[in-house]
Amino acid sequence: MSLPRRVSILGSTGSIGVSTLDLFEASGAEVEVVALTAGRNVALLAEQALKWRPTMAVIEDPELLPDLRARLQGTNIQCSAGASAIEAAASVEAQWVMSAIVGFAGLAPTLAAARSGAVIALANKESLVCAGPSLLRVAKLAGGVVIPVDSEHSAIFQVLDSLNLDKVSRLILTASGGPFRTWSREKMARASLDEALAHPNWSMGQKISIDSATMMNKALEMIEAAYLFSMRPDQVDVLVHPQSIIHSLVEYADGSTLAQLGMPDMRTPIACALAWPDRMSWPAPRLDLVATGPLTFEAPNESNFPALSLARQALALGGVAPAVLNAANEVAVEAFIQSRIGFLDIAAIVADTLGVAETCGLIRTEVTSDLATIQQVDSDARRMAGEVMLGYAGRHA
Ligand code: NAD
Ligand code: MG
Repeated sequence: MSLPRRVSILGSTGSIGVSTLDLFEASGAEVEVVALTAGRNVALLAEQALKWRPTMAVIEDPELLPDLRARLQGTNIQCSAGASAIEAAASVEAQWVMSAIVGFAGLAPTLAAARSGAVIALANKESLVCAGPSLLRVAKLAGGVVIPVDSEHSAIFQVLDSLNLDKVSRLILTASGGPFRTWSREKMARASLDEALAHPNWSMGQKISIDSATMMNKALEMIEAAYLFSMRPDQVDVLVHPQSIIHSLVEYADGSTLAQLGMPDMRTPIACALAWPDRMSWPAPRLDLVATGPLTFEAPNESNFPALSLARQALALGGVAPAVLNAANEVAVEAFIQSRIGFLDIAAIVADTLGVAETCGLIRTEVTSDLATIQQVDSDARRMAGEVMLGYAGRHA
């Protein structure tokens, strides 16, 4: 088995980035790190760079560049800053690129990496949601491939019988249900940021933790699955499984259903993406089903978690509707973090923004692989979400 040698990590200081470097270390993989990039966490980026000696280290915020340079003084690591420097780092020749920036900001660098023909280990689900078909086409044309890192999609990728895709009847994404699975809507309306961040099974970045609490994370994942595995929207279902041991299932037309199981540890799907099409060994935490105890399942509570039907609506509208849903969600999550709106307002703002975007024709924007078009749609949708939010912000205060 041969692992890729030259690797880059976009978003190395986040939860997925740190887990990726952890996996390199725990497995003793002989990788040569080409580029490490971060948003604002200059201290951790410098620490990682001193340890892994990449060719380049890039920080998104230009004001932090002098600090990065000072911390890496005396090394020959090239330091740079800004969104275009991150894109440039993503294009530098590497065999494997971990796409782990959070949000729409990950799209341009992921597209740049895809254009280089590298294997893309994709954690940044927002880029697939906003530009799925284009991103997959760009990767294919360049001779590369997109391997999912999201645990549900990694599970499906592992059990999908690619020779019999026409015999797949359903993809079943499992969801933990998040911290508010058993809460009433009245209680959710008053949920605090700390309560929303307290995910029962996974330790993750702030944005995806809030997305898990609203179940918008599962909504984004439904869209991600439809694009990644070329399924119709009605073939993508969600099943609540609070223990997060079964990471997803594929149901076939002959009545067989295949599932993938594992401990809730992102280093396993990262290892699958790193070693693909082989498998690698590392001291992975083992699944002990006796210790785990009963595995339980329930239908999602769609009236408490309207995000799931918003995903179906966006897929049905087609075109750039998923990108509008994503932009509105990013704006609303940020506003919730800043205590400007209540928890239930997040999904309501996404729903209203989709409605406004449909009425004014934004949804009908022609989908192209042109990044500028999708960036324009994203910024128009953010503006609309901002206007929609004015009606909610007052109510919360
Ligand atoms: P995180 O917030 O912990 O880390 C995000 C990384 O992106 C950091 O390195 C940060 O510095 C960088 N970043 C933030 N804003 C940036 C910007 N504007 N430009 C450039 N870099 C920027 O997030 P995370 O939990 O590691 O998630 C990363 C991605 O992976 C998300 O898309 C998330 O949905 C997906 N994902 C995460 C998990 C998980 O377990 N954490 C699981 C599945 C999928
Ligand atoms: Mg997931």
